[in-house]
Amino acid sequence: MKFHPEKLRISDQRMKPFIDAEEIWGYIHQSAPGKNRILEIVAKSLEKNRLTLEETAVLINANDPELVEEIKQGAKSLKEKVYGQRIVLFAPLYVGNLCINNCTYCGYKTSNQHMKRITLTHDELVNQVKTLEDTGQKRLILVFGEHPKYDANFIADSVRTVYSVKSGPGEIRRVNINAAPLDIDGFRIVRDAKIGTYQIFQETYHEGTYWKVHMGGIKRNYEWRLTALDRAQEAGIDDVGIGALFGLYDWRFEVMGLLRHTNHFEACYNVGPHTISFPRIQFASELNIDKNHLVSDYDFTRLVAILRLAVPYTGLILTARESSAIRDEILQFGVSQIDGGTNIEMGGYANKKENEKQDIDFEQFQINDNRSLNEIMEELIDHKYIPSFCTSCYRSGRTGEHFMEFSVPGFIKRFCQPNAMLTLAEYLEDYAPAETKAKGEKLLEEKLGEMEENGFKEKLKEKLRLVKDGKRDLYF
Ligand code: SF4
Ligand code: SF4
Repeated sequence: MKFHPEKLRISDQRMKPFIDAEEIWGYIHQSAPGKNRILEIVAKSLEKNRLTLEETAVLINANDPELVEEIKQGAKSLKEKVYGQRIVLFAPLYVGNLCINNCTYCGYKTSNQHMKRITLTHDELVNQVKTLEDTGQKRLILVFGEHPKYDANFIADSVRTVYSVKSGPGEIRRVNINAAPLDIDGFRIVRDAKIGTYQIFQETYHEGTYWKVHMGGIKRNYEWRLTALDRAQEAGIDDVGIGALFGLYDWRFEVMGLLRHTNHFEACYNVGPHTISFPRIQFASELNIDKNHLVSDYDFTRLVAILRLAVPYTGLILTARESSAIRDEILQFGVSQIDGGTNIEMGGYANKKENEKQDIDFEQFQINDNRSLNEIMEELIDHKYIPSFCTSCYRSGRTGEHFMEFSVPGFIKRFCQPNAMLTLAEYLEDYAPAETKAKGEKLLEEKLGEMEENGFKEKLKEKLRLVKDGKRDLYF
């Protein structure tokens, strides 16, 4: 891993740290809001406007359960008004768990002598991808520890390998990355491998806490990490994902940090992050962290609703760290992506049967939703969501996709929903057991029934017929 701390002294203002703890606390410590102010702010968000730091702090300070309910209802309305009924599915794939860092909250920390260290070989990676394709996955996020072995060329090679694997009708159509910060040249190398989103989570935006929980390695440098995605932008990767690990510090500060990071990107690059992730530490009994900041289910659902309203056009990713009950509740607030059939054990997809209990010694953290991809598909279908593997914007050169779906009138109707239906139809033909297939086909009929009779609906019906006849990868 190349580390160039001198680049932190770059004269470019965009590369300067932008989190001001005093400013954030100043907003949080403002006086408690009244109901009218909350309703005003929710209404602003429902008009598709991003909230300011001050407005977001007002929502954070609404502690009265009745006001919290107003916020949750606002997030639900936004979801219904803007995003419709489709949920994009993906799977994480751990490529290597070597790591030189010592993050107190992570099983892969370098001081963990019990951790078996594995880097998938080319053939093992191919096998993992084949196994994932055989369950119907189309979108992956490759996850790497931070280690000199996982340099930009290694990451780019892994991406190219994944794209090259075809198993039966299966293929991976979008590869996202979760890996260490690179320098600008490194990001360029990874960009050229045609990655989707490059995700780097700050973990905590609070610098003092950051120092406490990152005990060694490159990751100890708060600023190198904070400005990482600015370097990605400089290298031409404008599709970036940010995130915070909730439970390390006060959740209110982290929500404000995520928002500050978002408006930094908007100010400097005219585009916000593509996605925001909000993993939460839950099983902290064996972790060497301050337990005072663990986030309850009540506050967690509340903070997701606040985030939804604060950044109405940014994709929100919920992961299998959460139980299915929490996932089901939060889906109603406008989460746009979830992982399905997740196995975070190194080499776990090809070596273990789905649903088998995973061995904690080999994992970075524990997951709480062990359902297979098909079980998740079926559950989504039962709740009238359309599970989607759509990658059409990315592959047709429609960039800024989340912004378009949000801001271009009719975009969801014209693109997202029909493409979700086409990818669901593919899944039903190629991978679904009979019961799921019957439920999925019924849902497709219902969704077609809700559409206006016009030429576009006829085109969609024709494409759905072609999928039944064996054509694949059809989209608008
Ligand atoms: Fe390494 Fe990432 Fe785990 Fe930290 S969180 S120890 S950087 S794998
Ligand atoms: Fe995303 Fe574009 Fe597909 Fe909509 S049509 S789900 S914005 S890729």
